Amino acid sequence: MPRKEPSHAPYSPRSRKVRILATLGPASDTPEMIRALAEAGADAFRINMSHGNHDDHRRRIAAIRRLETETGRPTTILADLQGPKLRVGRFKDDKAELRNGQRFVFDRRKEPGDATRVALPHKEIFEAVRAGARLLVDDGKLVLRVTAHDAETIETEVEVGGTISNNKGLNLPDVVLPLAALTDKDRADLTFALEEGVDWIALSFVQRPEDVAEARRLIGGKAALLAKIEKPSAIDRLEGILELADAVMVARGDLGVELPPEAVPPLQKRIVEAARRLGRPVVVATQMLESMITAPSPTRAEVSDVATAVYDGADAIMLSAESASGRFPREAVAMMNRIATSAESDPTHYARVHFTETLPDATTNDAIARAASEMARTITASAIVCFTSSGSTARRVARERPIVPLLVLTPSMRTARQLGLLWGAHAVRTRDVHSFEEMVGKSKRMALRHAIAKGGDRLIVTAGVPFGVPGSTNVVHVARLIGDELDRHRAS
Ligand code: PGA
Ligand code: MN
Repeated sequence: MPRKEPSHAPYSPRSRKVRILATLGPASDTPEMIRALAEAGADAFRINMSHGNHDDHRRRIAAIRRLETETGRPTTILADLQGPKLRVGRFKDDKAELRNGQRFVFDRRKEPGDATRVALPHKEIFEAVRAGARLLVDDGKLVLRVTAHDAETIETEVEVGGTISNNKGLNLPDVVLPLAALTDKDRADLTFALEEGVDWIALSFVQRPEDVAEARRLIGGKAALLAKIEKPSAIDRLEGILELADAVMVARGDLGVELPPEAVPPLQKRIVEAARRLGRPVVVATQMLESMITAPSPTRAEVSDVATAVYDGADAIMLSAESASGRFPREAVAMMNRIATSAESDPTHYARVHFTETLPDATTNDAIARAASEMARTITASAIVCFTSSGSTARRVARERPIVPLLVLTPSMRTARQLGLLWGAHAVRTRDVHSFEEMVGKSKRMALRHAIAKGGDRLIVTAGVPFGVPGSTNVVHVARLIGDELDRHRAS
């Protein structure tokens, strides 16, 4: 008789490979709504540190963890740090009107601003800026160009005017700012998030690989690190950033402010492709179903945008305000789920995803990953089973974008949770195996229990022999579920 596993309830695999990351906020943070989002298809939740306070976030995290205990499904929590987001100061009348062609000054004075000047509470900018650089205010609605500057003032000419108001966001796409990767607020939020045991930390406005290295040092291995690509300077150093990060996000919101919107689609392709080549999970984010903030159904163009990210082979797609503060959070997740499922059932999906060639590195791990993927396709297996403690084997297999799901068996709950951003992974926490027979037996039992396979199906099992040595994947095995085992499983 197979030994009884430690006690989690089985949870069904998702019917799609791309993962759904839903941002939580005031519209979606009751335990009932979080459960409804998970049931509608959310694999991972984003806690956005730019909004809300620690008490709000703590409550959300606790609700996710309670749900996880109830359902048994490892659930991923990503805490998104605000990063060095720049803001202008305040105005005497809360706002001012700027006309095209007028002069406008940013300075370091304390008085509230007017139509001629406002304070800029970031002294680094005064040093780094140069004549000709653009200052974009309020998501790029206003454009001002620097004409002169010193340590105390930045003089600009207004190119595109409009209303400027208190604490509006500011983007400087043309300069690399000597800003620390994490502000004081970020450091406090990071300490909080790590204490709460989140699985991923997202770093906003990354400019250079050193920013990622600095954050990694502060995280100290307590969570995985996702770098948000939303600055032109990050595009210039993309490879270096990808090397140091565990995952990346195509943060199209700020990217499309710092660069013209038409520059974003080619960059989405480039970032997704570069991340896939290196085997880093990649999330496509922002405005995916934007109109669903206020309407129960999306525009056709939005549906097409979500499908495009799926055909690009992204690991995950994200909802922001749609799920955090919109009127239809559950409908937005359900819609994303339907779009992804439909695109993935298109017979051309496999070929389109494999348009990006991810050649294996010259390692045993990659040779096994590629072989497992090809075998699964050749014999129409039901799943590839990976035993992994750190998740690295699963990431290399997922990098192949196999035609079947990955059943990832890991003794580490942290790994199981972190894998919620990985394409095609169905993670199950379970005890380590110590022999070949145990490995095969457990693969079959778990595949049956989680309804990933049935009697007569075949599984591709990857493992490392001898057992218990991390990073030694060197075996691919084809296991066949026979009726007999199915009966025994039912009896147990
Ligand atoms: P944000 O990041 O929602 O935190 O701004 C995503 C983006 O900029 O696209
Ligand atoms: Mn952003």
